[in-house]
Amino acid sequence: MRKLRLSAALFFFAVALCACAKKPKDNEIDYYTKVGSYAEPTEGVYEAGEKDLELLGENPSTVKPSGGVTTTPTPTPVPHYVVVIDAGHGGSQTGASYDGRVEKDVNLKVASMVKEYLSTHYENVDVYMTRTEDKGLAKDVADDLRMRVEFAAEKQADILVSFHFNSSDKHSRNGSMVCISKQPQVREGSEQLAKCILARLASLGLKNNGPYLRDSNDMKDENGVALDYYAIPRHGAAHNLIAVIVESCYMDNKTDIPYMKDDAALTVLAEQEALGIMEFLTQYYVKQ
Ligand SMILES: [Zn+2]
Repeated sequence: MRKLRLSAALFFFAVALCACAKKPKDNEIDYYTKVGSYAEPTEGVYEAGEKDLELLGENPSTVKPSGGVTTTPTPTPVPHYVVVIDAGHGGSQTGASYDGRVEKDVNLKVASMVKEYLSTHYENVDVYMTRTEDKGLAKDVADDLRMRVEFAAEKQADILVSFHFNSSDKHSRNGSMVCISKQPQVREGSEQLAKCILARLASLGLKNNGPYLRDSNDMKDENGVALDYYAIPRHGAAHNLIAVIVESCYMDNKTDIPYMKDDAALTVLAEQEALGIMEFLTQYYVKQ
């Protein structure tokens, strides 16, 4: 192909010399402008038009018109991701309850749906769940939360997403929020993951309460700076792991209940959350 292109260049150079001897017609000028400069054909930028392919006797249908580089491009490897999904609470830890629904059960449902969606739609994503039954990882709540993050760290997870549903004293609050760590090594990634998921939930009509940071009342680092209040992001940061808590909506609020009231509603919620996760991984996350 390169030989043909050099031949084409020489051919057109000769034609151009002849053309200089007489005043070119308007359409000739137009023609040479279109085909490009033949004085210095440069590999990679020189593009053959259909006209010179015809002149060379090649069948244009067998040659890519925009050719020029004949080497096969190296395909970009598709990154492999590990996502750990955590269904909040479990066993004796029930979480919130309202109108016959118990948070730990709803968490497990939506978490399982997110796992299912990711597993069936993306070959390059391994998904693990911290629990698949109605039981926690330890009797002690502090141990339980630490072990969920340790599980993710053992799996060398890229992200840990813990699924919960919110509630408020007067059932007056509504909307979604995502609790993140403020620790610098994971802050930016956590915030971006939160934004991706929240934007998806907002697209369903849920109020976006944003990424949420909360300082611990009593735990401080060696510099006296308060650690994260919530255990999942706090332990996640200690493992350099982006670990967030998704409070999809309020399970006790009349505005939000339609978004989580049954399996059909939870399927819609889970799909958007899975898409938010993938949006983060593919568009913002740089795998180490
Ligand atoms: Zn919860």
